[in-house]
Formats: sequence, C-alpha cells, structure tokens
Amino acid sequence: TGTLNVTELAEKLGKSPNEIIKKLMFAGVMANKNQDLDDDTIELIASEYGVTMKKEEEVEKSDLLQYIEAEDEKKLKERPPVVTIMGHVDHGKTTLLDSIRNTRVTAGEAGGITQHIGAYQIRTEEGKKITFLDTPGHAAFTSMRSRGAQVTDIAILVVAADDGVMPQTVEAINHAKAANVPIIVAVNKMDKEAANPDRVMQELTEYELVSEDWGGDTIFVSMSALKGEGIDDLLEMILLVAEVEELKANPNRRADGTVIEAELDKGRGSVASLLVQNGTLRVGDPIVVGNTFGRVRAMVNDLGKRIKKAGPSTPVEITGLSHVPQAGDRFVVFEDEKTARQIGELRQQKQLEERRGEQSKVSLEDLFEKI
Ligand code: GDP
Ligand code: MG
Repeated sequence: TGTLNVTELAEKLGKSPNEIIKKLMFAGVMANKNQDLDDDTIELIASEYGVTMKKEEEVEKSDLLQYIEAEDEKKLKERPPVVTIMGHVDHGKTTLLDSIRNTRVTAGEAGGITQHIGAYQIRTEEGKKITFLDTPGHAAFTSMRSRGAQVTDIAILVVAADDGVMPQTVEAINHAKAANVPIIVAVNKMDKEAANPDRVMQELTEYELVSEDWGGDTIFVSMSALKGEGIDDLLEMILLVAEVEELKANPNRRADGTVIEAELDKGRGSVASLLVQNGTLRVGDPIVVGNTFGRVRAMVNDLGKRIKKAGPSTPVEITGLSHVPQAGDRFVVFEDEKTARQIGELRQQKQLEERRGEQSKVSLEDLFEKI
C-alpha cells in the first residue's frame, strides 16, 4: 500500500518521472508514472539521491470505520480521559501505574481482584473517572498508532529526577507530539537524595516542554511513585487537562473502539480486551473486531467483575469472537448478527487474499539479498 506514486515521488525529489522510472528499473521494479510505491521502495529510491524519506506520519484509517454512523453533536457527553504513561526505562512507569491503581481502594471499590486486561479505570474522590492504559512503554503506543488507532488522550511523561532526560524520554516526547497528545511531566523519584528537578526542567526546555513556573504551558508534577507522593496532584492535573480537551462521546449508541490486547485462552477461546471509545457495549451485541466477528458472550471489567454494559472510555475483556484479533484493531457493534457475520466473513476473506498476494510478491529486499 503505497503512500506516493512515481510522479509524486519525482516531484518531492525534484526529478523528472522518467528519471525515477529509470532508477526503479535498475532496482528491478517496472513502474509507470502512476504506479503506487511502497514505503521501502520510496526510501530506497530517495536514498539514491541522498534524501532520507520519513514514512508517512499519516496512518491509514481502518476501513471498518466506514460502518460507523455519523455522530450527532448534540448527543455528546463528557467522557473520562484515557491516559498512557511513557518514559525512559527504570524511571518509574510501572511503579506509578501500581501506585495509581492502589488509590482506588480508597474509593470504595475494594474487594475486587485486580484483573490485568491492558487497562484499568480509577475513580477520584470527586467521583471522576480516569482510564489508564496498563501497558507502559512505547511499543504499545506506536504499534497501535501504526495501525491507525489512537486511544490515548493524555500522555504522562515520567522522568526520574535523579537521572534526567534520557533517550527513551525523547522518544516518548516525539511519539506524543506526533500523535498530537498533550503531555504532563511527572518528575519522579523526588524522594531520592540525588533528585534534581531543576535539571529535568532545564533539559526539557530543549523539547519545548517549558514548565508553567518558567513561563511555559506544560504541567509538571513532582512526585515519588514509590512512596505514593504527588499522586493526587497528578490525578488532579489529568482531570484539568481533560477538561480543557473537552473529551466527549455519545453513550447512547452502538459501541465502537479499539482492541488493547487479545489472546487465545485454552478454556475461554478468543479473549479480547477492548477500550470502548464511543457508545455503550453490551453483552449479546453482534460485533466485528478487526477481521473477526461474533457476539459479546461475557464481559468483565478490570476488577474481574462480570458486567452487562460498558460506556465510553471503559476497558473491558470480552469473549465470543470467532478468531483472535490484534492489538490496535478496531471494533464496531452492528444492529444484527447477520450483518456482523457478513462483514466479518468478508474481511476474513480479504485478509486471506492479501496474505496470498504478499507471498507471491518479490520484494526489493529479497532481490538485493539475492545479488
Ligand atoms: P519502569 O521501567 O519505568 O517501569 O520503572 P519501574 O517502575 O520498574 O521502577 C524502576 C525502579 O525504580 C524500581 O526499583 C522502583 O522501585 C524504583 N522507583 C520507582 N519510582 C520510584 C520513586 O519514586 N522513588 C524511588 N526511590 N524509587 C523509585
Ligand atoms: Mg516497567
């Protein structure tokens, strides 16, 4: 699936289409002016002219979205923010996720056994909900985005105060910026002797993250994830940013959303964790998830509790799908099972055909390996 055709690439490189066609020929690709080129070929040809082409940031949207009916603005209601925690290894992402998760015990939800379903939701003392993606690290974020799914509303950038900005800190900033997601900086490990928050602030100015104290507009929260200090401040700031972002959804419609993770369970079959992004998902709903389909047989929340319905920004785990979908796949609920089955089967068929097509195509890389 190309992002540029020959003529467009020629334009970008300031060359004539004929010259590009010649280059392609030398590379073993027979192409005409209107031929779409895949990313690897584009990179290869560009590199011959000493140009490094970045792969298109604009990701292809899932064609499953075509089945979602247009939204009526008047029906939109506030929804909880969905937050991803990012940052350099060992700066405290997991500790922070655990600390935040523990806060909900105080909110009267004790007794549930935490179930890892790829995300969890807390309720603050004011009764506001926040959803956290439970898969720290950037891989989940980027692989979802590369598949056209955006589930994160707010990114928490964890920076250890005794270590400062490190390579994966910068990577995280780039991901969040590319996704146009607002960043809150959590300056962590403040309990440590060597903590130097000023240095963190100083270093982050290079990446246009300037604290409000220094005349910028980025929120910085000092904390110790280990000791549970600063958690309330952080939650408050998340809600503040969420309010500014005016996050909304319509709970009174058929659900759609994204797969957070999925696996094949020996006893239960295909098990998928879904984030409901719009509408309300119900047990019994006919559903298409990526290239698979089914009916929501059972649904549990992040406390392992069986539930019958789940509104916007709620993470749930469902069973009842014909196959195992992939993280980043979209899901859409249909009016009736027949339609869901038809569309699901069509998509499965298409996927099979695409796979066959890929196998018979000789890639440029293969060609060069042979030389
Ligand atoms: P991750 O790789 O970003 O998920 O980092 P972890 O949460 O696994 O933390 C790495 C190490 O730092 C662990 O030994 C944690 O106990 C420790 N750690 C995390 N947060 C804090 C903190 O606020 N203060 C101190 N002193 N140690 C922390
Ligand atoms: Mg970790």
